[in-house]
Amino acid sequence: MAEREALSSKHQIGAKAIKTVGLISLGCAKNLVDSEIMLGSLKKAGYDITDAAWEADAIIINTCGFIGPAKEESIDTILEMAEYKKSGRCRALIVTGCLSQRYGWELLEEMPEIDAMLGTGQLDQLPQVLEKVNQGQRPVLLGQPQFDYDAGAPRLVTTGSHSVYLKIAEGCSHRCAYCMIPAIRGPYRSRSMESIITEAEELVKQGAKELILIAQDTSAYGKDRPGSPGLPELLRELAKLSGVHWLRVLYTYPTTFSEGLIEEFSTNPKVCHYVDIPLQHASNDVLVRMGRGPVADLQRRLIGRLREAMPDVALRSSFIVGFPGETEREFQELLDFLEEIRFDHVGIFPYSQEEGSPAAEFLDQIPEEVKEERLQRAMLLQQRITEEKNRARVGEVLDVLIDGPSPETDLVLTARSKYQAPEVDGVIYIGNRWLPRGTLTKVRIIEGHTYDLVGEVIDESGDP
Ligand code: SF4
Repeated sequence: MAEREALSSKHQIGAKAIKTVGLISLGCAKNLVDSEIMLGSLKKAGYDITDAAWEADAIIINTCGFIGPAKEESIDTILEMAEYKKSGRCRALIVTGCLSQRYGWELLEEMPEIDAMLGTGQLDQLPQVLEKVNQGQRPVLLGQPQFDYDAGAPRLVTTGSHSVYLKIAEGCSHRCAYCMIPAIRGPYRSRSMESIITEAEELVKQGAKELILIAQDTSAYGKDRPGSPGLPELLRELAKLSGVHWLRVLYTYPTTFSEGLIEEFSTNPKVCHYVDIPLQHASNDVLVRMGRGPVADLQRRLIGRLREAMPDVALRSSFIVGFPGETEREFQELLDFLEEIRFDHVGIFPYSQEEGSPAAEFLDQIPEEVKEERLQRAMLLQQRITEEKNRARVGEVLDVLIDGPSPETDLVLTARSKYQAPEVDGVIYIGNRWLPRGTLTKVRIIEGHTYDLVGEVIDESGDP
């Protein structure tokens, strides 16, 4: 492990001990779970946790370094939080997560406001790092991304206890040409099934009704541990927990989505008929250049099988436009694919040239304005499809989970059906009844919009 400590008068924290800590979590749900583990370890070590940056003695920023805009957001947040060292109580700024794993030394060099730096492999050592910061040191822990938490790791769930992420593996062993995640997070490592079940039992005791399984590639679960159970077996075991009502799986991968997994999705009554499968493109040539293999036909067949096994399945995917060398014809293949498949939810991203990735060296980079123009065309097409699909739901009665009051007004509730994941998909707004967060109920859809739906809670007789 590369561990260095830099002492300078600029980083002497002073006599007052750090007591109250705030944490900002950027990026994806996988990073959020890391943040929750860090918060749990701080709480266990006796620190008070606050949501308000102005009252924190130390602010931790768990950064995202996935693509350009996420990096910019991380740097802006570090600079914004650094202001609290001038105007608030903050005496220490600690940076961790994917951006620090990737650019930790450069950040330290360029941002003297930073008092400690931790990579993705050392997040369990945050309390010791704070100790050192308290002693006036500037600790830097940027070793191999090796930390895998188990059920014993304390975790402070921040999403509301009814709907909780469950990380089943860490790292990635695929080699997509545009992606730096394997370098940032290390190779794919599945957690043991025992550890996951033990954690799930604890989360259910705390009130979890929906468990959302995440990893860089959830459908590869267990494949790195010869002879160990895979995702179908894990889902079967999790379904035995009586408090669990919904099991949702995010981030599956086309070549690891087995027939056994389709079978489990379609027969296990607790598994949501919701498949999140980032496909990235539809043109075989682009997919090959992306390092994902000639999988265009396989993707089509897989979607056909999923729909055959689960006619009501909601499909989410994400795509990259403007990958190096993408011709207008190849882009058109992607548009045709969106039109043909009619996904329920889609994320579309312009290709981001990531330093250190093979695709960054490809000579035929696409100009920014072409990427932007393709992004707009793809988004407009998908918006129309999503809106049509949402309108077609008017009149349907759906089982929903109440997430709580809408952030805009306390007079309206937000809820989700099995066909909507938190944060990334739309919600169902409900105005005719007040129910506590975490309630499972039935809703009739009365309006469908581009992203969201409007519904009314109905009773057993079907009346609102
Ligand atoms: S599957 Fe590909 S895009 Fe996803 S994390 Fe792994 S290498 Fe990156």
